[in-house]
Amino acid sequence: MGNNTLKDLSLNIGRRSFLKISSLGAGLGLTSAYANSDSLRPANEEEIKNPYPGSKIVKTICSICSAGCGIKAEVHNGVWVRQDVAQDHPISEGSHCCKGIDQIDLVKSKQRIKYPMKKVNGKWERLSWETAISEISEKMLKLREENGPDVAMFLGSAKFNLQQAFYFRKFAAFWGTNNIDHVARI
Ligand code: SF4
Repeated sequence: MGNNTLKDLSLNIGRRSFLKISSLGAGLGLTSAYANSDSLRPANEEEIKNPYPGSKIVKTICSICSAGCGIKAEVHNGVWVRQDVAQDHPISEGSHCCKGIDQIDLVKSKQRIKYPMKKVNGKWERLSWETAISEISEKMLKLREENGPDVAMFLGSAKFNLQQAFYFRKFAAFWGTNNIDHVARI
């Protein structure tokens, strides 16, 4: 049974049942990441009742696109720990697309990139922000010098807020091109 299947199961059945199934999986010697992690430990009664004592629910919106679907973010000791749909949100009315339903992974995912990386001889290496910015800007300036400013296409992000979009548009203008658009048009 793969990770995705277990995850799908967790969405369709109660949490208590899921933990029981997970424990069963451990008993059967499943080889998934779940079988090798602490997530297979049966939850105790206290944890089932309230795994994040003192947590608070913060109503917010998904920032992946401009639809702005409602999210209920559970915050525990300053950390976003769980996500739920906001049934009472006036626009999304409790629905999400497949990106928004896991928006919490933008914060929690182990695959999240937290610093600049560069592939050197087939291996990823960590760079300082200063080095990364300097290397990228040197390459961009060289490209512009050799090919003119229209060599670049600036593609905005649905995750930009107003100020970021303003700076991004200004950056393209100072660079010298009108090749700029918004990712939603793709
Ligand atoms: S849940 Fe999907 S549709 Fe809604 S804001 Fe997020 S990305 Fe956009």
